Amino acid sequence: MSINLIAKPIIDQELENLKHRCNKLKERRITPNLQVLLVGNNKASKIYTNRKKKFCESFGAKCDIHHLDENISVDDFIKELNKISSAQDVHGTFVQLPLPGQLANLEIEKLIPADKDVDGFHPFNLFALLSDDKKSDYFRPCTPYGVMNLLKYYNIPVSEKHAVIIGRSMIVGKPMQMLLTNANATVTLCHSKTKNLSELTQKADIIISAIGKPKFLNETFIHPAQKNNTVIIDVGINTDKDGNLCGDVDFDKVSPLVYAITPVPGGVGPLTILTLSQNLLQAAEKII
Ligand code: NAD
Repeated sequence: MSINLIAKPIIDQELENLKHRCNKLKERRITPNLQVLLVGNNKASKIYTNRKKKFCESFGAKCDIHHLDENISVDDFIKELNKISSAQDVHGTFVQLPLPGQLANLEIEKLIPADKDVDGFHPFNLFALLSDDKKSDYFRPCTPYGVMNLLKYYNIPVSEKHAVIIGRSMIVGKPMQMLLTNANATVTLCHSKTKNLSELTQKADIIISAIGKPKFLNETFIHPAQKNNTVIIDVGINTDKDGNLCGDVDFDKVSPLVYAITPVPGGVGPLTILTLSQNLLQAAEKII
């Protein structure tokens, strides 16, 4: 039977640490302060931002969600973002994606100051990741760094392993490639134009899927000779034909064939929120 790589023990362990760090800051009259911009009425975005707020408050941080109108103009949005992110008592800001059409081409990652970019997408933070900067205390992108923390917690070695990532987005696939490369894995980054995808995944020690297609990855992606050896990280958050939450991986078919696998829900998702919170504390601690 495969190991179920659930987030809960990691969250439970790290929550105590976050509370302790938060209390230390409060002794110095600093309350870690996260400000979130949410535009429009996307149901999933509302759920995600509320979860982030609730988690931040559970360890003592402050978190406000600024709910902006779906039709807000580009100028008004930028004004609002600048006002919020430049406030002195704010340590972290992020904009919940996706954004409505009129804002879709904005380079949000450049509009938030690098030292408050708790999402880890500012060019400064991305360059530090790209160059494997060990000297600066930069912010790592939340979902990929959450995956690295999960692998570490479950003692899954990365160095010298072959990792196949499916999906090349800026928020998951590409930064995941960098983090794994920096940790000495050999990485193959696949996408919608990759030919013979299953031939590549069949050679992988670790498969990370972030494509957004319900139950796409099935037993044909695992080589029979690799049975019980592969580690599967399912980043996808989708709904199946019955309206139930599911990942990119057909869990029931793949789970019996692999060494370890993340469930959806309860795997990667909560770790994204954890990393965001760790980044927030890192931002608040920087100013001491
Ligand atoms: P995206 O739409 O920006 O990118 C999808 C990627 O998948 C693209 O690079 C595309 O080339 C690739 N792709 C699509 N179909 C493919 C196919 N058939 N074969 C190979 N590659 C294919 O998506 P994203 O923002 O990176 O999100 C991906 C999934 O991860 C979504 O389900 C999203 O909800 C989820 N997600 C989860 C978390 C989390 O915290 N767990 C965070 C971010 C995204």
